[in-house]
Amino acid sequence: MRSDPLQCQCHDSLTVILTCFCRISDLDNMTKGSQGRFLLLYGSQTGQAKAIAEEIFETSPNHGLDPEMHCISVTDKKFSIEKEKCVVIIVSTTGDGEPPDTATKFWRRIKKKTLTSDYLAGVYFTLLGLGDSNYTNFCRNGKNFNQRLEELGAGHFYPPGFADDATGLEIVAEPWIEGLYPALRKHLGLDGVSESQTGCPVSATNSTSDLCQGGEVRNDIGASSDEPLNPLERHTKVGSPFLDVQSSSVDTRMEHLSSVPNSASATSDDAEECSSDQRRVNHDQTTLGPSTNPGLEDRSASSVSKVSVTNHLEVSPEPNDMPSTSLRRPEGSKRGEKDRPLGDVEQASSATEGGAVTQTDGSASLRMSIPPLSESGLTLPVAPPPFLDVEFHTDQTLRTDDLPVQGGAPMPSAASPVTMATLVSATRLTRADAVKTALDVELDISETGIHYQPGDSFSIVCHNDSREVNDLIQRLGLQDKADCPLSLQVLSGTKKRRAVVPEYIPQPLCTLRHALSHCCDIRTPPKKAFLRVLVDHTHDASEKRRLQELCSKQGASDYGTFIRDPHLSLLDILTAFPSCNPPLSRLFEHLPRLQPRPYSISSSPLVDPNKLHFVFNVVVFPEGQGRNERREGVCTGWLNHMTKTEQHSDVSLASQMSKLSIHWDTKIPMFERTNQRFHLPAEPTTPIIMIGPGTGVAPFIGFLQHRACLLKTGACLGPAWLFFGCRHRDRDFLYRDSLEGYLSSGVLSKLCLSFSRDPSPSVTDESCKMGNATSDTPRYVQDNLRRYAAELCQLILEDKAVVYVCGDAKNMAKNVTTTFSDIFMQETGRTAYEAACLLATLREEKRYVEDVWT
Ligand code: FAD
Repeated sequence: MRSDPLQCQCHDSLTVILTCFCRISDLDNMTKGSQGRFLLLYGSQTGQAKAIAEEIFETSPNHGLDPEMHCISVTDKKFSIEKEKCVVIIVSTTGDGEPPDTATKFWRRIKKKTLTSDYLAGVYFTLLGLGDSNYTNFCRNGKNFNQRLEELGAGHFYPPGFADDATGLEIVAEPWIEGLYPALRKHLGLDGVSESQTGCPVSATNSTSDLCQGGEVRNDIGASSDEPLNPLERHTKVGSPFLDVQSSSVDTRMEHLSSVPNSASATSDDAEECSSDQRRVNHDQTTLGPSTNPGLEDRSASSVSKVSVTNHLEVSPEPNDMPSTSLRRPEGSKRGEKDRPLGDVEQASSATEGGAVTQTDGSASLRMSIPPLSESGLTLPVAPPPFLDVEFHTDQTLRTDDLPVQGGAPMPSAASPVTMATLVSATRLTRADAVKTALDVELDISETGIHYQPGDSFSIVCHNDSREVNDLIQRLGLQDKADCPLSLQVLSGTKKRRAVVPEYIPQPLCTLRHALSHCCDIRTPPKKAFLRVLVDHTHDASEKRRLQELCSKQGASDYGTFIRDPHLSLLDILTAFPSCNPPLSRLFEHLPRLQPRPYSISSSPLVDPNKLHFVFNVVVFPEGQGRNERREGVCTGWLNHMTKTEQHSDVSLASQMSKLSIHWDTKIPMFERTNQRFHLPAEPTTPIIMIGPGTGVAPFIGFLQHRACLLKTGACLGPAWLFFGCRHRDRDFLYRDSLEGYLSSGVLSKLCLSFSRDPSPSVTDESCKMGNATSDTPRYVQDNLRRYAAELCQLILEDKAVVYVCGDAKNMAKNVTTTFSDIFMQETGRTAYEAACLLATLREEKRYVEDVWT
């Protein structure tokens, strides 16, 4: 995924802590008012920032706070930041460190040079930036916003946080949100005022679908047609006890943990008062970010004390909850072995005094914990309230083929409507013994109205694997109803504010199979809030306890190890916890939207404007680590499956590829993307340096095709260097024949190759014919960059070449940047700082451009 963490397929309802912590006596005193009012803005690309803002919006009234929430795009129409006193901004970063589409207007507005340094003098704000540290400009947009607001005189009432999707947004976002409420209360002068006495309403009229269409989503006092909800009622209706546990130090928290009751037995009587001095936030704290927040579990004394830990439901293992059976690693199995299949539950190997199940061989797994977690009291998020109602219409039929793609909901980063391309051919570019399978797919776009340039990317609206959908339907016991029309409504009397039916599920009728196949992301690891919901639908005590652990604060590391990192899906979780039987409505509430997948175009319209090529590796998730079978990536697996019977090998010359074309009637839903910047220079004479190992070579094939066409028409071409790398010359050297052809025709001036796993590569530089490998034989593209350091400096600094980097964001792009920095230091005598400045300038001038993804 790209630096937009929002490419990361999720409507991310993080484990934001949904709580109701008013003292019971206060509830009677509840009045309406807006003492706790603040402006809550979000700038979202694919929904994560919006989801977090909505969670804050949802839970704020429980803290006596009254947010007015808007999509940041409605600046000037619905809010004017300079008129505000207290603002909370949740904003993501997309593309190359840019604002999401919805935030560009706001950014342009606050960037105006005419604004004075006291323009926002009366404004206090905080900001949560979402980003992905795999990319060069981690949280750049959030940081830009933060800096610019400061420049305009706005002050912080609470430090900004920068959450990293590479490690898990929740690691920073959860404690940041926890600390936000007391900070807001303090800033708004509500300390000492009971949370319920601020009189903040807890229901409202507007729907979230209004949010980005200019709809105001303020908590209108008395304007709601819904009955205002009493926090206690909210709480007890969702069946969860509550406690007011607020502490500014971990010691206090831990003390409390040791004495809290079990969720199963706690009641509203467990509500405790909390003295105001416990509701503190340390205003000396520095920015919350990955470096200061290594993880929830690791936030021991020093780091936890930076943010007050508030408002969780806390659960201790206790004898009542002691499982009669528990999950245990099968005898003789080793750490890392695949979990046993569904329903394989054995007697506990041991249970601690407090009721937790322990593992005697000392290793934890998805289904089994070990001390200290298995013996720990747990701090759980309170389950989000249900808000959807599913009704099956057995007397009706529905042709799902006619349903609009994802209910016609707008697609992220879409520059065109969803349109149907026709699949023309699929060519396997790798040998059968290559580690990865790379496929080149050709689409006919003649009926799509799409026009592209080399270097553009487009998105595919993919489907989930039909077998996996079937398995899920079966696991839910809904085989009989899979194709029966169903409708979704907002649950009458729901306690969720602004509850709406997800817009990406077709209305008024859909089917379960259609929704799970086309609309919902059934692959993304369930967020902790979702796990918390699953807890309430799990019957077996030991399974329940384990699910509680996995969504608890104390189990944050286990969540990462056993769910997030191995990328387990809902089906994997339901398989591992056979007594968990959630109702369908809860799944529709928590399954995120199935996101489209972007691909770089690997062709030029000069060759054929009606055809478009792209290349991808089939993503493989191996069996094990809680997954009972090998799976393929959602989109690449779908494409692979769809083309399987017709795939051809790229046996030799590029020219043969066209001969392999076949004609099917298979349609692929796709759309053009916005923010296309990865283009050839306007002047063909401008030198270009292309760095694209693996499938990163995709756009460069388009560039080279384009140059070949220009050359044929007599154009004068500047130098073009390509740095390509793969594992083995003979197994996964993509487009080998084409590249060698471009080299010999002069379309490509230099082809620098590196083969990371070939024991003794014989030729590393096709154009120079360097001869046999030596000890410094390049293994990676950056090795070749170093080798040609002097020439590259000449090209970039003297001849004004444009550098293009495409492909893997996790390692390659970062290494390439570091290498260029080293090269500039070595070749020009610049210091590290000066080299970094030079790179920044090149980026600014769009002479160092990246198109990278994870
Ligand atoms: P998914 O089902 O989405 O799975 C991939 C996810 O799983 C990733 O988040 C990854 O981190 C994670 N993951 C993968 N393997 C494992 C594992 N073993 N264990 C745990 N987690 C794992 N891709 C190309 O191949 N070619 C391109 O030209 C291309 N161009 C792109 C251009 C842009 C602008 C962007 C943003 C992305 C591009 N991508 C490209 C990536 C592409 O969009 C998809 O993300 C990729 O093809 C995988 O999609 P999928 O649905 O098959 O995988």
